[in-house]
Amino acid sequence: ARKFFVGGNFKMNGTKESIKSIVKGLNEAKLDSNVEVVIAPPALYLQLASSELTAANVEVSAQNVYDKPNGAYTGEISVAQLKDSGIHWTILGHSERRTILGETDDVVAAKTKAAIDGGVSVVWCCGESLEEREGGRTVAVVEAQLAALAAKVSGADWNKIVVAYEPIWAIGTGKVATVQQAQEVHEAIRKWLKAKVSDAVADETRILYGGSVNGKNCKDLAKEKDIDGFLVGGASLKPEFIDIINSNL
Ligand code: 13P
Repeated sequence: ARKFFVGGNFKMNGTKESIKSIVKGLNEAKLDSNVEVVIAPPALYLQLASSELTAANVEVSAQNVYDKPNGAYTGEISVAQLKDSGIHWTILGHSERRTILGETDDVVAAKTKAAIDGGVSVVWCCGESLEEREGGRTVAVVEAQLAALAAKVSGADWNKIVVAYEPIWAIGTGKVATVQQAQEVHEAIRKWLKAKVSDAVADETRILYGGSVNGKNCKDLAKEKDIDGFLVGGASLKPEFIDIINSNL
């Protein structure tokens, strides 16, 4: 069985004080022990978060990493530097990085391969825009994103990847996908993995839903057979993040 996974993507939010307080909340909460949790604060606060964290089954994740080992790449952080700082997870390919910072499918795939080769696990994001959904292209868009990834990673690499399906129109809008809409795409992703990668990877890969998940809508989404957890933005900064982690209790 796939272990339920919940990620908190803080995006470019927080201060030393607020991040300490979120971590304290997690340390003191009663969390479902069958859930793997990562929290992703801005890079400046990764070490603060990891030094404050005592909760079992909770790890700290970066929101991005660069694919070159070191050198003249002003403003970037390498996989080795994450590892050196005790960080073993990163989010990659978030739609905000794809659309605002211009990361292509290939750039995201190259970063994913570099992270895995350096021993950092990846929450790899995909998802369609509103225009693509309305044009009936949702599955084709997600499959193209997956194909770019599969061109760079193989075999055991998939053990270090968690897929997050995040329809762009649902991110930060309060417009959560219906359980049917989410399940349908998750099932399509799993079928694609089965056809193009392997039965084992299709069975074992966690597929998270992201986009306006909150303490109220999480329980119904979590019941769907191909929804293995969540990637949470806004609500990960609030106490209801605990309720989302405990969706199955
Ligand atoms: P919201 O939960 O704020 O909609 O953001 C989702 C997201 O982008 C998580 O990566």
